[in-house]
Amino acid sequence: MTVLHSTNGSTTVGHFRMFVGGEWVDTDEHFEIRSPATEELVATVARGDVAHANRAVAVATSVHQAGTWRLTPPAERAAVLRKVADRFAERSVELAELHAREIGATIRLAEPMHFGAALPHMQYLADLTARYEFEQGGPLVGPVLASGRVRREAIGVCAAIVPWNIPLPLAVWKIFPALGAGNTVVVKPDENAPLMVLELAREFEAAGLPPGTLNVVTGEGESVGARLATHPDVRKIAFTGSTETGRSVMRGAADTVKRVTLELGGKGPNIVLDDADLDTAVDGALFAFLAHSGQGCESGTRLLLPRSLHDTFVARMIGRVKTLRIGDPMDYETDLGPVHSAAQRDRILAYIDSARAEGATVAYGGSVPQGPEFERGFWVEPTIVTDVRPHMRIAREEVFGPVVAVLAYDTDEEAVALANDSEYGLSAGVWSSDARRAFDVAEALESGMVWINDWHLAPPEYPFGGVKQSGLGREGGPGALDEYTEAKFISYDLSGGLDGKLYSLVLGTPPD
Ligand code: NAD
Repeated sequence: MTVLHSTNGSTTVGHFRMFVGGEWVDTDEHFEIRSPATEELVATVARGDVAHANRAVAVATSVHQAGTWRLTPPAERAAVLRKVADRFAERSVELAELHAREIGATIRLAEPMHFGAALPHMQYLADLTARYEFEQGGPLVGPVLASGRVRREAIGVCAAIVPWNIPLPLAVWKIFPALGAGNTVVVKPDENAPLMVLELAREFEAAGLPPGTLNVVTGEGESVGARLATHPDVRKIAFTGSTETGRSVMRGAADTVKRVTLELGGKGPNIVLDDADLDTAVDGALFAFLAHSGQGCESGTRLLLPRSLHDTFVARMIGRVKTLRIGDPMDYETDLGPVHSAAQRDRILAYIDSARAEGATVAYGGSVPQGPEFERGFWVEPTIVTDVRPHMRIAREEVFGPVVAVLAYDTDEEAVALANDSEYGLSAGVWSSDARRAFDVAEALESGMVWINDWHLAPPEYPFGGVKQSGLGREGGPGALDEYTEAKFISYDLSGGLDGKLYSLVLGTPPD
């Protein structure tokens, strides 16, 4: 595999093959990975198809059956995970830059968050593997004399499907616990952003992971992704992406009753209470919907303001947003970068048009920024939409861009009702200087995660995931390996006698 390297800011285009059965596999046709900021070629990547997916699953199945990795002691599995984490830390300057170029994130955010935040997750999941209780047991309670054990066993072949927005952490949340638990894995990264997953595979190979234990098939969702969802030998599928595709993955998984983890869309309600510190809340509201140009499932895209503060708050947001610098994401002075693709830009602009058509007001932004630096790449201005009513599409559907829908409310109860009036339930936020009041609101929200006076926090020790149509299951946190193991109950009685058995309930007392 040729690897990209950067010298004095100029990046050499590299070619990446996919990783199947311990071999780096190329194809005649390739995907082109282009910078969302400049449309320049960043890399070319092998274009896998259903045959590659089938091959990867076949190899992963035979490695699972042979027990090569499953029977490796957890401490040794953890050591392999740690080696990969250490290598990523050593290569962080090079890889964070590659990651930023691939997804168009500002380097200032990508280094500590999109790339850097994945490193403690890797370490945490390696440590969790080392201390996870794969077996627990003791005497059974009740009239029988037997004892019992619960063994947490590897499930088998686990498939992982990853989106383009922040691929490294999202891939780590799947690959690390799946391998830590002893499974074999087939990953399908997004065809527009597969480079970090391929780099993970490269470091796992170098760390001594047995061939065929981790496979990466770089292919399209509708072919390779759908095949993994329906393949009879895939026992579990972990998917991050849109709710619509998540439903299709779940339907595909139903025929073979696969275990499913889904991390889907969101429409994060961000509630400012009337006792909030306004300076913090204004910046917090902008951070919630503008980080990575709003391309985070957990973004705070519905801003709920007390009617008494609405006009002041919006005016202060507009004043602050005017100070933000949009442009070259590789410049550390840049605040906001591009959106990921032309299709994404057009979709965002169509949502802004729909808001206007439904009677909302575009109070700031709403277009492509003007200037020579925006002639290449895909750009949308930070956009603040007011006069939003709960039934409007801009209040209900995930835009996945730098757009916030502002709604006014009169009481805390109304704010909670507005926040919960959504098919989604991934993330939410409350801004207040009163802890009791903030916690009361947080507890009433239908959401997998609630941040009080902050946003976007995803620490490794805490679970990430949503309720309602934002997903199923959780990633990270102390239960991360539970999602990749089956609990097997074994009872045993080595006393040799009939005492304490349930036999007599059916067979009566044995004849003399
Ligand atoms: P998407 O659903 O279009 O694609 C996600 C992945 O699924 C890609 O790898 C794609 O190739 C694959 N895919 C597409 N069609 C498929 C099919 N029929 N079967 C199997 N796989 C298929 O999503 P996207 O536009 O790439 O990503 C943005 C979405 O992801 C947003 O909705 C966002 O909210 C969501 N997301 C959720 C989380 C979370 O943790 N909840 C995190 C990041 C992104």
